[in-house]
Amino acid sequence: MTPSGYSFIAGSQVSGTAGTLTPRAGASGETLEPEHGLVSVEQVEQAARAAAEAFGAYRATSPEQRAALLEAMAATLEADGDDIVASAVAESGLPQARVTGELGRTTGQLRLFARVVRQGDHRGVRLDPALPDRTPLPRPDLRLQMVPLGPVAVFGASNFPLAFSVAGGDTASALAAGCPVVVKGHEAHPGTGELVARALTSAVADSGLPGGVFSYILGGIEAGQALVASPHITAVGFTGSRRGGLALVATAASRPVPIPVYAEMSAVNPVVVLPGALGDPAALATAYVGSLTQGSGQFCTNPGLLFLPTGEAGDAFVEAAAAAVAQASGQTMLTEGIASAYEKGAAGLRDTAGVEVLAQGSAGGAGAPAPQLLQVGTDAVDDAWDAVTEEVFGSSGVIVRYADTAALARRLARIDGQLTATLHLDADDDTDVEAARELLPVLEDRVGRILVGGWPTGVEVCDAMVHGGPYPATSDSRTTSVGSLAIERFQRPVCYQNLPAALMPQALADDNPWGLTRRIDGTLHLAPSQGVTHR
Ligand code: NAP
Repeated sequence: MTPSGYSFIAGSQVSGTAGTLTPRAGASGETLEPEHGLVSVEQVEQAARAAAEAFGAYRATSPEQRAALLEAMAATLEADGDDIVASAVAESGLPQARVTGELGRTTGQLRLFARVVRQGDHRGVRLDPALPDRTPLPRPDLRLQMVPLGPVAVFGASNFPLAFSVAGGDTASALAAGCPVVVKGHEAHPGTGELVARALTSAVADSGLPGGVFSYILGGIEAGQALVASPHITAVGFTGSRRGGLALVATAASRPVPIPVYAEMSAVNPVVVLPGALGDPAALATAYVGSLTQGSGQFCTNPGLLFLPTGEAGDAFVEAAAAAVAQASGQTMLTEGIASAYEKGAAGLRDTAGVEVLAQGSAGGAGAPAPQLLQVGTDAVDDAWDAVTEEVFGSSGVIVRYADTAALARRLARIDGQLTATLHLDADDDTDVEAARELLPVLEDRVGRILVGGWPTGVEVCDAMVHGGPYPATSDSRTTSVGSLAIERFQRPVCYQNLPAALMPQALADDNPWGLTRRIDGTLHLAPSQGVTHR
């Protein structure tokens, strides 16, 4: 199957009526076939309205029905996998192995949420039975469950054409919560978006649910703005630039009925090297450059800022890292816009007072700019701080030298919100452990994920993952866009007081027909399948 240039609204293939988009092969400039139609504002509204009309039927689905839909989506993606991967490779310029792995992550994510839905913990059920004899006042019967918010608008990311796009984590978590989804496709991979949307649309059709449960519209900024402004939309998931994310936050906040926007935007993901970790500075430096230059640095978790002790071992790290970057070559970036934004940002950093250029690699051809490594000394860091803590999306790394841990802690306390922070240390070295103990609360305050050892690129999709963090990493630090906790973004609590049994929602019924884990009168009762009751 190859793309034909369509969007999908409520189960029907439609041609966008507001112009066309010619796909490109990554940032190389080469054009691809076919042209894609861009939807009009009226078509956007049609998709949003269909989502609102489907909400009643979709929210009423049982855990089994909802889980089955997510699994069917994973299966249809796998069935069309070869074509989807081929399209994503052509449009993104990413290597086939990476895209194939990303398809596995995407289907794995859908299945993870199927499991979450069946287990049902996300419904957060609490029952406080009536206490008619309590004095001085009786207590009514009170029961709480989380309910879905309503239709969710999803803006796919350019850098993960599968796992953070049409069938990505935002879509999977919103559908799992019981929310219909309207995806605004990314112009960097319209063909891939269409093929994925076709697979998801057919899974919805086979399930017998209304087509409005899932729609995919390809459109420009006007269409995206119209989607967020639509009165039918109740929440937004976004991954991309700070500018784009903030524009959507502003639109959502200025609606007659404001709605939440969960935007994952920008980060430099500080890495802190403590002195004990410099036993083999060259090996550590080589691993760092591997993470920095992987995929042309086009990861939200790219380690853009590294804190390194002054002194000889630190100097040896710098020398080895510079040599590795000098040998590295740029790979084709995702879009011409991203490549030129990188070139501009990288040049701006090089021109910043106090910033020393340690190494530049080679360009890998059109749209594949060279990686670079820079350094700021202890004297210059205050003046250069704003520039070096701003994300430059791509393989640009800045090493900041520090003289002692107290200075390091003060500096980290000033850093903007981040997705990750990484500590490299020797766990057997008391000085390192003491320094890390001092830094942990500082980092906890600034980031969503703290790693010890390793590199932040690579985000496991699981229950314990947090891919979030304080602004500007995201627009809402209370949650995550990767992992099962992401479902909480798209639901809200409702309390039912003195509801007769005949009206009781299934999740709250006395006989627990869905076998959910529930907190009853202060005691957590694990789902019967999990077997135990804990107080
Ligand atoms: P982007 O420009 O923010 O676009 C992301 C999505 O938002 C696209 O669908 C885009 O529509 C839409 N959009 C952007 N501005 C909008 C606005 N004002 N109103 C309505 N919709 C809007 O991100 P990108 O194209 O993926 O990459 C550009 C830059 O974003 C990169 O250079 C990098 O700095 C950053 N980025 C960060 C991450 C991260 O994970 N932190 C990931 C990817 C990119 P169109 O398709 O019509 O433009």
